[in-house]
Amino acid sequence: KVRVRYAPSPTGFLHIGNAQSALFNYLFARHFGGTMVLRIEDTDLARNVDHGEESQMENLHWLGIDWDEGPNKPNPKYAPYHQTERNDKGIYQKYIQELLDKGIAYKDFATEEELQAMREQQKANGEAPHYDGRWYGASEEDIKAAEAKGLQPSIRIHLPKNHVYEWDDWALGHIEFNSDNLGGDFVIQKSNGLPTYNFAVVVDDHLMEITDVIRGADHISNTPKQMAIYEALGFDHPHFCHISLIFNPATGKKLSKRDANTLQFISQYHRHGYLSEAIFNFIAFLGWSPVGEQEIFSKEELIKAYDPKRMSSSPAYFDQRKLDWINAQYIKKMDVDELADRALTLVHENDSEEANQLADLKLDDATLKDLLVKVIKIHQRDVTKLIEVLHYAWFYATVLDQNLSYDDFNDLDATETKQVLAGIKAGIEAFDGQPTAADYSALIKQVGKNTGVKGRKLYFPLNITFTGKSSAPEINEIMAVYPADTNLTLLDKAMA
Ligand code: GLU
Repeated sequence: KVRVRYAPSPTGFLHIGNAQSALFNYLFARHFGGTMVLRIEDTDLARNVDHGEESQMENLHWLGIDWDEGPNKPNPKYAPYHQTERNDKGIYQKYIQELLDKGIAYKDFATEEELQAMREQQKANGEAPHYDGRWYGASEEDIKAAEAKGLQPSIRIHLPKNHVYEWDDWALGHIEFNSDNLGGDFVIQKSNGLPTYNFAVVVDDHLMEITDVIRGADHISNTPKQMAIYEALGFDHPHFCHISLIFNPATGKKLSKRDANTLQFISQYHRHGYLSEAIFNFIAFLGWSPVGEQEIFSKEELIKAYDPKRMSSSPAYFDQRKLDWINAQYIKKMDVDELADRALTLVHENDSEEANQLADLKLDDATLKDLLVKVIKIHQRDVTKLIEVLHYAWFYATVLDQNLSYDDFNDLDATETKQVLAGIKAGIEAFDGQPTAADYSALIKQVGKNTGVKGRKLYFPLNITFTGKSSAPEINEIMAVYPADTNLTLLDKAMA
């Protein structure tokens, strides 16, 4: 029975790299009808950030990733799901003690200064830095003396010499490491008494009966160390899958949180009006590909198509144009009312300049939703992100305050333009009530007939008058967004 886990450290908010790990664990679990576990690896106390954990969970939910077991859904058989709580229960201590008793683990009283000096000496000798085993097999007297000085030891595991750790990775195929190349005996319990990541992860993955460990390729070099711990404890190790890291095509390097101009936190995508379905689809292609050419996949389709054998071993390039294209496809397909509700949520969250401008108009929700529906009907085919919808909504709602440019009138015949605008004005004045988009469409056609002005000569003056630009989508629909007297004012301004 498949059991996988996503194991974030709450040292930051949900980054696209974290989301990628969570997503492939999710697809794996759902594809094989297995169990998805959320485990919080919070033992690096100094690096934990406020709300890191909540933010991870919230953003996973937004993405459509859920889990079957975790802090909020404990299974008594495997709980608790925070490593700090597991540590408090003595879970790691028990196994550390077992290794100490067997003589596989030992106390290391070397101070940080001493270790630093050791590494510098090794560098000077042209050796790769490694722990030289100075406390392995130390005498009782030496240990007593160190303890008498009040030194707090770390605990290291002793590695066998020239021993091969190998596994068949879902993504990378066969991988081997020699125990002699792991940097020497490594720490499994820090001097503050907390287990290291490598130790805690092995104990937890074993006790939680994890069958497949799916995580970023930045952990590849940890895997042989974890295998050493599995061996020492006499546990079988799970299958491993190391997901390709995400690369920035602009720098050719691993995507870094410091890369400017790249959205990287899931909350940023949300704030900019990417749809969660589109992000899910996009991330599924970072490190994996299906058979065939299809690029737009719903979550259900991805679960069905997912095949861990098709995980890639080469870097996944972050392609912003592709992301925008995918998002635009989802916007085109989505129900207008649903899009309007999501746009409304963005206004309420008020977390971008575009949302801010619109929220500042203090429209009531019904009016705002009505406006958003109209704007989406006009722009659903040409926007990439929902914040563009917010921008248009704000622009149309405040069109009288906008500094519309009339420069494009210069490319047109002034007499014809005047005839068209005057005709439209007369038509609106004669109309009883607020014209609809269909009414405006009929009026424009009528004016075209009456004046004999056709095509761009007929439409460009209207586009310029009502949007300030000669090219605009369905101008009759935009005119119907404005109150009739706003249209009259705009016509007067344009003709002045
Ligand atoms: N807490 C680790 C991380 O955030 C998890 C690595 C793993 O999945 O083993 O990178």
